[in-house]
Amino acid sequence: MSNELAQATWPSIAEAPLVLVPLGSTEQHGPHLPFGTDTMIASAVAAQVAAGLADEGLVVVVAPALPFGASGEHQEFPGTVSIGTEALTRVIIELVRSLSTWAGRIVLVNGHGGNLAALTASMPQLINEGHLVAWAPCAAVGADDHAGLTETSLLRHLAPELVDLAAAAPGVMAPMSTLIDRLDAEGVRAVSPNDILGDPTDATAALGASLMNEMTEGVRRRILADSTDARGCLRDPVPAALRSSASVAASSGTHPQRFSRSA
Ligand SMILES: [Zn+2]
Repeated sequence: MSNELAQATWPSIAEAPLVLVPLGSTEQHGPHLPFGTDTMIASAVAAQVAAGLADEGLVVVVAPALPFGASGEHQEFPGTVSIGTEALTRVIIELVRSLSTWAGRIVLVNGHGGNLAALTASMPQLINEGHLVAWAPCAAVGADDHAGLTETSLLRHLAPELVDLAAAAPGVMAPMSTLIDRLDAEGVRAVSPNDILGDPTDATAALGASLMNEMTEGVRRRILADSTDARGCLRDPVPAALRSSASVAASSGTHPQRFSRSA
């Protein structure tokens, strides 16, 4: 039986299940990836995590993904739809309040870094209200930031028919730490005219499959460890230095290492 809430009937909902809610975005991802990139990645990770946990005997439900997030830094590009941090914070609070009436535990699976401020803002209030809620990033060691090697490889694995590899070109390669102030103030276009942060040209489906497994295993570990930090984020019990790093291994020597971040 499917564990997708959208395909279930109410009598089939077990008592107090773990509910996974994928959080995505509808924002442009360079000239070669679709607007639903973050949503597709978060949905795929949540589905794969749920399948794995169900095999271990946990009762898991995957809620429909939230396709709108906080993407103001991409608003200059046509097609981007953002509800902003304030509205997203409110949406997360109301979703969790509603889910809590029947869910045993709620984990938001985040696929878009721009949603972090809303997650961080909503968690203290929700935890204060007594909801059993936390969130986990779709993270990979050495992942680049936006529409680069990481996301392009993931999409070549998940939805190759939606990737226009001929349009893929290197974007800005500077570390996010040197770009973030200007990016926040002026938007992505100010730091990268093609809106790519990283280099997608070497992306492969095989790397995407490996990244998907790394992200899935990370979220699974965090859920099973069940320990949250001050931002409501589930901690990874495995130290960063010991984690597998598909993208770093694939790009060693040709790409500078980037810090880990959900894109
Ligand atoms: Zn993205």
